[in-house]
Amino acid sequence: MVYFANYPAAGLVDRSTQEAAEAGLFRCLLDQAYLMQGVCRECGGHVDATLSVCEDHDSAGGHQCGACGTRSPVWADQRCRTCGFGKRLPIELCCLGLTPVIGFLDDREINAFAPTFEEIVNLLEVHSETSVSGDPLAVTVTISGERESVSVEFDEEMNIRSIDRPTAKAVD
Ligand SMILES: [Zn+2]
Ligand SMILES: [Zn+2]
Repeated sequence: MVYFANYPAAGLVDRSTQEAAEAGLFRCLLDQAYLMQGVCRECGGHVDATLSVCEDHDSAGGHQCGACGTRSPVWADQRCRTCGFGKRLPIELCCLGLTPVIGFLDDREINAFAPTFEEIVNLLEVHSETSVSGDPLAVTVTISGERESVSVEFDEEMNIRSIDRPTAKAVD
């Protein structure tokens, strides 16, 4: 298992541990692009999604939350209606499969499908923030650069309500 997914043996052949892990990350992020589009990568079927929210989340300072044991307050469960293929991942990671976020990262010379480990850790732990508001549930993930950011708002079934990408401010 690598990144919450089965790892086929061929992926390990002629790759160093680091290379195999990077290939696993690439596969995971490409899966996300399919799932965020609502298309199953295995069978082409429809994908349903639900969000689970940690009600007492506290991951201040990058620590794991005492209540849910993870760093992310919101996890997405994306599952194919037909074959059951799917993933359960922190919602911040799911956002990396959306084209506005891919473009945002590309502007920062980060390949959204094949980031380095430093880039992905930095993105998820330093540059992303998730806020939750209730009834009806709305989850907003914001990924920030130095001068601009991209925000994605989801409803409880992980439908995208809005994507906000403020234009860059003029460089001083
Ligand atoms: Zn929590
Ligand atoms: Zn399927």
